[in-house]
Amino acid sequence: PVPVPVLELRALHVAYGAIEALKGTDLTVEDGEVVTLLGANGAGKTTTLQAISGLLRPRQGEIHFHGLRIDGVPPHEVVGLGIGHAPEGRRVFPAMSVLENLEMGAYRFRGVPKEDLDRVFGLFPVLAERRGQQAGTLSGGEQQMLAIGRALMGRPGLLLLDEPSMGLAPLIVTQIFDIIREINIQGTTVLLVEQNAAQALKLAHRGYVLETGSIVMTASAGELLNDPRVRAAYLGET
Ligand code: ATP
Repeated sequence: PVPVPVLELRALHVAYGAIEALKGTDLTVEDGEVVTLLGANGAGKTTTLQAISGLLRPRQGEIHFHGLRIDGVPPHEVVGLGIGHAPEGRRVFPAMSVLENLEMGAYRFRGVPKEDLDRVFGLFPVLAERRGQQAGTLSGGEQQMLAIGRALMGRPGLLLLDEPSMGLAPLIVTQIFDIIREINIQGTTVLLVEQNAAQALKLAHRGYVLETGSIVMTASAGELLNDPRVRAAYLGET
């Protein structure tokens, strides 16, 4: 039998009033992959992740998770199905401690499973050191780690990452991408939205390029890295 993809978007249309943000997007993520969704500001990358998470309801088209249709399913149920989302801008709860933020990520379980906390602290030792610290006082990189850690506390099979590199120093970005690779090796499938195409394509197996709401290209990460159009538009080469 042909394996069912982890995630499948079929002809997805999402609009904000009269503004069509996604115009028939098709996208597939297979089990175990890191897939990156590239595109300029306003291309519709965040909209795509928010539709998958149930934060936006598509106007047309379908979203399937392990073969189950999930468009129209409310966000807390999407989390319960095993989709974690580290949103754009991190959105940690600033007045809560690091530990409390992580506990929020585990809300679908009764109590906070120690194994999940151990896993997150293993990936991000700095969060263990700072578990009692108010999240709003963490550095940008630490807040990003916390946002990813919080999403992992829901034990997702699919992790959605919205621009984890945004606003961070190159050294921190490298660190975070190394950890995303580790998370993937541990068995989590990843859909990664990035403007930092160079780093994203080094990490990903495959990629999609989104332009004003339409997928204009899809290929293996290696092919995209070598594609002259991608190099000119997204890798800053002339
Ligand atoms: P960015 O990197 O800036 O987040 P993006 O690729 O994630 O870009 P989206 O945020 O998905 O793009 O936006 C896609 C389109 O939808 C843009 O034209 C944007 O202006 C529009 N848009 C996004 N959010 C809203 C909203 N709440 N109301 C109206 N239009 C919106």
